[in-house]
This record gives sequence, structure tokens and C-alpha cells, in this order.
Amino acid sequence: MSGDRAVVIGLGRSGLACARTLAGEGYRVLVVDRNDGDAQREAARSLPSGVDVRLGGYADDIAVGAAMVCPSPGVPWDAPELQAARQHGVPVHSEMDLVFMRCRGKLVGITGTNGKTTTTSLVAAILQRAGFRVHLGGNIGATMLDRLDTVHAGDWVVLELSSFQLETIAEPACSIAAVLNVTPDHLDRHRTMQAYTETKQRLVRFAVDDVVIGHDDHVSRAMAGLARAPARYFGFDIGSHDGSTVHDEHIVSIESGQPTAVLPVADVPLFGRHNVLNVLAAVAVSRAAGAPHDAAAGAVRDFHPVPHRLQTVLDEDGILWVNDSKATNVDSALMALRSFGDRPIVWIGGGQGAGTSSDALVDEIAARARLAVLNGASAPELDRALAERGFAARSVVATLVDAVEEARRLAVAGDVVLLAPGFKSFDQFRDFEERGDVFAAQVRRLRHAAQEQH
Ligand code: ADP
Repeated sequence: MSGDRAVVIGLGRSGLACARTLAGEGYRVLVVDRNDGDAQREAARSLPSGVDVRLGGYADDIAVGAAMVCPSPGVPWDAPELQAARQHGVPVHSEMDLVFMRCRGKLVGITGTNGKTTTTSLVAAILQRAGFRVHLGGNIGATMLDRLDTVHAGDWVVLELSSFQLETIAEPACSIAAVLNVTPDHLDRHRTMQAYTETKQRLVRFAVDDVVIGHDDHVSRAMAGLARAPARYFGFDIGSHDGSTVHDEHIVSIESGQPTAVLPVADVPLFGRHNVLNVLAAVAVSRAAGAPHDAAAGAVRDFHPVPHRLQTVLDEDGILWVNDSKATNVDSALMALRSFGDRPIVWIGGGQGAGTSSDALVDEIAARARLAVLNGASAPELDRALAERGFAARSVVATLVDAVEEARRLAVAGDVVLLAPGFKSFDQFRDFEERGDVFAAQVRRLRHAAQEQH
């Protein structure tokens, strides 16, 4: 391959990792980017010498004649420059595809609509506690491709895999593959539920040693039949299958029909029954990887919520402020609304839609919220839908910052003020992290202001 030409499209984190890796392997690398701004110029300067860079646009046939082309995640998989490459027999490899082709470790791949980051982090924590060498990556943390030289044979490489990433991996062959759940999301990109489901099915089809399947969700449950590897299930009801479930309020692992209690459900330090499901999934995966039960129990007890996932921001004067900015779709926001028992909820939400129906969310708000503070692009639509259901306790404000102020004014002792928007953040923010940070900062700012007045 030495001297072969490779084209990398996009000069972001992923593109940089591809360029560095391929240059290190002896390819003559050309990196192109449509933009020619400060960010691209700075990124270009960080590349090893010998890598060519072309900023500010390129022709659709840029990769024709190359040995491969590596698009950044932002480049649609059917973009014209990739189609042209394919037509001329040039293989298209995403960064994650390069990881799968080069990784020496044993792969765990975790996908699903919701709970991926939480479950992946739990699995890594358990395997670490068990004394294994573990690398955590994929749709989470620093780029895995850059770290592959630290991965030895026998290490566990635990990857969170989004449907976008799965779509771009030629052979997503993991030692252990887990599908948590499949509910509507990203239909603006995948167009149909079937297409969205099929991307996740690929992980199951290619799994080598074990698959771990969410049993309570009918779409993921149906996937077990596609696997060549044996299945373990997780869920509150797994029938007579092996896997993990809840018996008598204990998390229980079942192998060859024999149950072993792992820890009491009450010891799970996360809000919500859905997070019990994530723990069940992580227990099943870690058992498939050979971790002892006590490693699972210890790691779960010491786990902290991943930031922006039902994370406590402030608990003061009887009011609990919770940041679940990562609730970017209907199902995750439903779970959030169901996570606080009978406590009254001041719900803050709204944002940019993803081509899915928000009816179920509106029903849940009407049933569970004491008050709904609506903001962002979908606020008018939510306001109308709640009014139709006779739900009067609505405030419509322009921005999230206004929404926190409104909530601060109206919340009373006993309330949970819950940011679980049910929509994407891009109408007001760069991403859900920025949205969560703005929420938390505003909660703290108003609290300081109130303290100073007293
Ligand atoms: P992902 O990486 O799949 O987006 P996260 O762990 O980041 O998953 O959680 C995303 C959102 O979904 C958060 O709002 C979280 O509270 C919620 N959530 C977590 N686990 C589940 C689950 N099993 N089912 C539904 N919603 C969940």
C-alpha cells in the first residue's frame, strides 16, 4: 500500500485521525474540505508533513483513482463525491470502518435508540473493575482510531455505535453485540423506521460470539433471530431465557437457567426504570465478556450519571433541578418524565424536530407535568397540542434561559424541574451539551442572585 493515494474528506476530528493513521501507514494522503476558515487552517497545521491539504472546495471526482476515500461523519453516505468514487471502484471507508479493519482487541458494540452512552460507560466500568484492559470509544470520547496502537490483543474495546456509524461499517463484526431498544428517531435522515432498524440489525448479523438483546422492546427482540451467535436477553420480562432481569427488586443474572442475584435495584445510583434496563444490559454484556458478578455490583454502585443524562444540577429548598438535555427524542423524554415517581414535575422542553411524531410526549406531559415551560422551535406546536388536550398550565417563552427563569419563579418545594426537551438542540445551540451547560449555568446563576438578595 506504500505510496497509494488516499483521500480524506473533511478536516474535523475524525478526518484528522484518518489522515494521521493513513499517513503513518505510508499512504500519500490528500485531505480536502469545502470550508477554508480558521478552524480548518489550524487543523491543517497539526497534520504531519507530507499530507496534502486542499481547502475551500473540490470536484466530485476528487477520489477517482485513489486507493480509498474516507469521509467525515458529516458527509452524507450517498454524497456525489462518494458515489463517484464507488462508481470507479474506489472503496469508501469511514473512520469507524478503519477501526474495525485494524483493531487487535476484542470488540463490544452497543447500539440502540436510547441508553447507548450510559450502557457503554457502565460496561467499560464493569470490565475495568474486573481487571481487564479496557478502551472506551466510538460515538463517545476521543477518536478510537488515534488510540489503536495502545490496544493489545486480548484487550476489550467497548464501542458505542450510532445508526449513522453502523451504516458506514462494511463488516461490523464484534465479539459481543448489544441492541438496547429501537424507537423512532432520526427519521429525517433514515427516512423510514425500517431503514433505521436495518442499520441496527447489521450489528446483530455480524456478531461473532454473543448477542445481547433488549427483550422488552419488540423491535429489538425480533432481531435475535438474525444472529449467528447465541443470544442473551435483558429486560423486566425475559421469559425463560438466559440473560439479566429483575426478581424481587434485585438485579439477577441468569445462566443455564440458574439465577444469581447481583445487587438490589435500590442500589442503582441513577434515576428511572429505564436506567435499570441499562444496568441489566451492562450486566448481560459484562457476563458475556467473562466479568464476575461482584465486579458488576461494585462498578454499578460507584457509577455516576453521564453528564446531561438525568444529572442533578441542584437540590435545594425542596426543589430538584435535573439536566436531561440528552433527551433529544420522544422516547427518552417519556422515560425522564416517568423517573420521579409521584413528585410534581415542572417540565422544560421543546426544540428542533427530527421528523417523528410528538403525540406520545404531549400525552405524557399532560398526564404527568404540573407545569410545562415551552421554548425553542417546537414551542408553538407543543402549546397547541397541549391546549387541545385541555392542559392549561403552560408557559411559552422564547429561549431556554427564559425558561429557567420562568421555572424558578413558579417552582415550589417538592417539585422536580426537569429539562428533558424531547427535541434536538440545534434551534438554539451547537449541541445538547451546550444546551445542558446553559441550563445548569442559568440554574446556578439565579440561585446566586437569590442568595445575594437575602
Ligand atoms: P444514547 O447514547 O443512546 O443517546 P444516553 O445514555 O446518552 O443514550 O441517553 C440518552 C437519553 O435517553 C437520555 O435523556 C437518557 O436519560 C435517556 N435514556 C437512557 N437510557 C434509556 C433507555 N433505556 N430508554 C429510553 N431512554 C433512555
